[in-house]
Amino acid sequence: MVAQSGGTRAQARPDGFDAVVVGSGPNGLAGAVTLAEAGWRVLVLEAAGQPGGGLRTEELTLSGFRHDVCATVLALAAVSPALRAYGADAPGPGADAPPVRWAHPPVPLAHPLDGGAAALLRRDVAATATTLAAALGGTGGGKATDPAGWRRLVGPLVAAGPRLTDGVLSLLDLPPAAPVALARFGAVGVWPATALARAALRGDAARALLGGLAAHSMLDLGQPMTAAYGLLLAVSAHQVGWPVAVGGSQSLADALVARLRALGGELVTGQPVTSLRALPPARAVLLDLTPRQVLRIAGDELPARYRAALARYRYGPGVFKVDWALDGPVPWRDRDLAGAGTVHLGGTLAEVAAAERAVARGRHPERPFVLFVQATVADPTRAPAGRHTGWAYCHVPLGSTVDMTAAIEAQVERFAPGFRDRILARHVMGPAALEAHNANEIGGDIGGGTADLRQLFARPVLSRHPWATPLPGVYLCSASTPPGAGTHGMSGYHAARLALRRAAARS
Ligand SMILES: Cc1cc2nc3c(=O)[nH]c(=O)nc-3n(C[C@H](O)[C@H](O)[C@H](O)COP(=O)(O)OP(=O)(O)OC[C@H]3O[C@@H](n4cnc5c(N)ncnc54)[C@H](O)[C@@H]3O)c2cc1C
Repeated sequence: MVAQSGGTRAQARPDGFDAVVVGSGPNGLAGAVTLAEAGWRVLVLEAAGQPGGGLRTEELTLSGFRHDVCATVLALAAVSPALRAYGADAPGPGADAPPVRWAHPPVPLAHPLDGGAAALLRRDVAATATTLAAALGGTGGGKATDPAGWRRLVGPLVAAGPRLTDGVLSLLDLPPAAPVALARFGAVGVWPATALARAALRGDAARALLGGLAAHSMLDLGQPMTAAYGLLLAVSAHQVGWPVAVGGSQSLADALVARLRALGGELVTGQPVTSLRALPPARAVLLDLTPRQVLRIAGDELPARYRAALARYRYGPGVFKVDWALDGPVPWRDRDLAGAGTVHLGGTLAEVAAAERAVARGRHPERPFVLFVQATVADPTRAPAGRHTGWAYCHVPLGSTVDMTAAIEAQVERFAPGFRDRILARHVMGPAALEAHNANEIGGDIGGGTADLRQLFARPVLSRHPWATPLPGVYLCSASTPPGAGTHGMSGYHAARLALRRAAARS
C-alpha cells in the first residue's frame, strides 16, 4: 500500500485500481457504481463490517424484527437520478443488481393534532387538499376554509415532475435543466417555513404539515430556506410516495454492491482508512466522509487554507433514536393514522417550531418533534406475523448525552394512548452510539453537517465544484457536499462525474 502523490494518482492502474472510494454509504456506493459504469476498476473500503452506511438494517431488538438503523423512508432514493433505476418498478440498472422493491404505505405521511383531525399527505395533491380542508376548524389558525391552499402552493411544483426534483438534486449543474421550475421552487423555498406556512396556508392541519416536513432540515424553522426542505419532501411524497424498502434499507445497499461487483468493482468491509497515504495508487480517490474525518486522514497533505475551511465547517444538531419491537399495531387515537408510513408527532406549527428552535439554541425540548415510522404498515416482512416495528427519532443538541426515550414515548402516547403497553423491546441510540455505528454521524449529526443557507452552498467550500479538493484526484462525495443529506446518492454521483471529466481532460 503506497504513499502516492497527486501526480501518480492521475495515471494509476495498470493492474491495480482506477479509483478508491472510502466509505460505502449511499453516496460512496453511487459514486463507485458511476465510475465502474464508465469502465473504471473501483475499490471501496468500508470501516464497518457491513456495507451501506446510513442504509444498514439490523435485528436491533428481538430476533425476527428487522430495523433500519439509520435511514428508513427512501423517497429521496426513489426520486434520485442516481438511484431510482434500482427500484423494481424502474427499468433497472442491469440484470446483475437485484431490484429493490419499494413498499408504499396507503398514506405517505400523517401529522396528528390534539382535538382535531390529522393532516394526511396523500399521493394525490387534490386528495391531500381536500383532507386538509376537512381538517380545518382544529384549534385555530384561521377559520376561513381554503381548500385550495395546499394545491396552490404544492401543485405547480408537483406538476413540474422529475425536472424539478432532478434540478434541485443537481443544483450546481450549468445550465440548469429546468430553470423555470427551479425559479418557481426558489421563490417559495427561500422563505422561512413558519412564514410561508402562515402566509400560504389556512388552518392548523396544513400549517403543521408543512412545518413538520420542513423540520427535516434540522434548523430553526424561522430561518430562510427552511421552506425549501419541506416543499421538496412534499413534492417527493406526491411524485413517488414515501416508500420503505421491502426487507429494510439494506436491500438498496446490497443492490448497489451487487451492481458494483458485476462491473468488476471490489468492496472490502472492516477496513477503516486512517490515512490517505495508506491507499493503493489510483487515478481518483472519493471520500464518503465529512470534513472532520477528511482532516484526520488527509490533514497534513491539504493546503492550510482548505484545511482551515474544513475546520470551520459546522455540525449539528444531533439526533436521539429509538426502535421498538411491538406486539401489535400502534393504537392511534385517530384511525386514519393506521395506514400512514410516517407520522410526525409534535402538534401545531407553533409547537414544532418551538421544539426545533430550542434544539437550535442548544436546549432539549420537553415535547420534542418526533419523526415516527411504522414500516411494517407497508412491509410486514420486517416482523413476525401480527407484530410490528416502530422507528423514531427527535433532534437534540450536538453531542447531547440526555436520554430522550421518555420524552419520545410521551409524544407517541399523546396521540396513541396505550402505545407503551405494546412494547416488547426497545433499542436506543443517542449521539455517541450513532457516531460509534457510523463515524460520519459526528455528535449524532445525521445530515453530514448543518445545512443552513450558508452551508447549503458552502458545502464544504463555496465553489462551482465543491466535490474537488486541492489535492489532484481527491474528491469528497459524502452528504457534506451538495445536494446534502439523504439517501439520494447524488453527492457521490456528482463527485464521480467530476472525477471522470477531469481525468478525461488530463488524458
Ligand atoms: C437515524 C437516522 C435516520 C435517517 N433517516 C433518513 C431517512 O429516513 N431518509 C433519508 O433519506 N435519509 C435519512 N437519514 C440520512 C441518511 O442516512 C444520510 O444522509 C446518508 O446515509 C448519507 O450518505 P453518505 O453516503 O454521505 O454517508 P453515510 O451513509 O454516513 O456513509 C458513510 C460510510 O463511510 C464509512 N466510513 C466512515 N469513516 C470511514 C473510514 N475512515 N474508513 C472507511 N470507511 C469509513 C461509514 O462506516 C459509512 O459506512 C438518516 C440518518 C440517520 C442516522
